[in-house]
Amino acid sequence: MITYDFLNDSINIIALHRVLSDVDYDNRVAPVSIMEMAERDLVEFIKYSKNNGYEFISIDDVLSLDVGTNNKCIVLTFDDGYVDFYDVVFPIIKEHRIPACLYFTSGYPDSKCIHSFGILEDHVRSLPSLKFSIANKDYSLRAETKSEKREAIYFLSNLVEELCDGNDSGKLLEILKLIGVDDEIINRRYSLNWRQVIELSNNELVTIGSHTVTHPRLSQLKSQNVEFELLESKRKLENVLGAEVKHFAYPYGDHNERVKAMVRKVGYSSAVTVISRDVCNIDRFALPRHWLDSDFAVI
Ligand SMILES: [Zn+2]
Repeated sequence: MITYDFLNDSINIIALHRVLSDVDYDNRVAPVSIMEMAERDLVEFIKYSKNNGYEFISIDDVLSLDVGTNNKCIVLTFDDGYVDFYDVVFPIIKEHRIPACLYFTSGYPDSKCIHSFGILEDHVRSLPSLKFSIANKDYSLRAETKSEKREAIYFLSNLVEELCDGNDSGKLLEILKLIGVDDEIINRRYSLNWRQVIELSNNELVTIGSHTVTHPRLSQLKSQNVEFELLESKRKLENVLGAEVKHFAYPYGDHNERVKAMVRKVGYSSAVTVISRDVCNIDRFALPRHWLDSDFAVI
């Protein structure tokens, strides 16, 4: 019997990232368990919550509730905007009639931000070994077995991060090409496209929030760059969706008082972190969230 011990008899905001079909989940080469959940486990969590008296509410509802009373509520939130939100999550929330908030990084559909981990995973998946040179340095990686592949992917992911200057997507693409990733994989869709985001937004169950343009660690940016990330993502989403974007999620949960004050100033109504606890003494610009992944399903 699975129990979700982190749930409290109050408002519980849940942070999720990717939700994979059961087949895709079981075939992962480089699992990042905190970022991924199997479809079957999300459905299990929803059933458990309903059977145990929790009500699923929207992020808008959180701001209008009298917190501290005995509300057994759950808010589902999903970060980044992976295409599996459309393919896997959307059918589930429609079937169970529960709301969800998608915090979308607006640079993904326009390639201002790139899902490098997924690209590297797909690149390594079908190769027995890798050889490439970057800046006069030769690299040779074995990738025959599953564990070698996993090691190679993590090695490449660290190398890319080391060589990339912040979130410069042009530089990132250059490095991916030097590693030998072909165009077909680079152009594969890891992110939702704008047509899908519009369709999601038009459904009453889905709230679209912002998750910046390029997914940086905001506390490390100069104020003018923080302002750009906060305002440009809001502006772009509002232009495309024709609706106000009121909610925000800090990438990596990273924030400080300066960033928090700016989120409020540019006009958002709430912001979520990744601090794990239930919502009490509500600070609507630092709302805590519980992480949920498939490991909860392992008994
Ligand atoms: Zn994120």
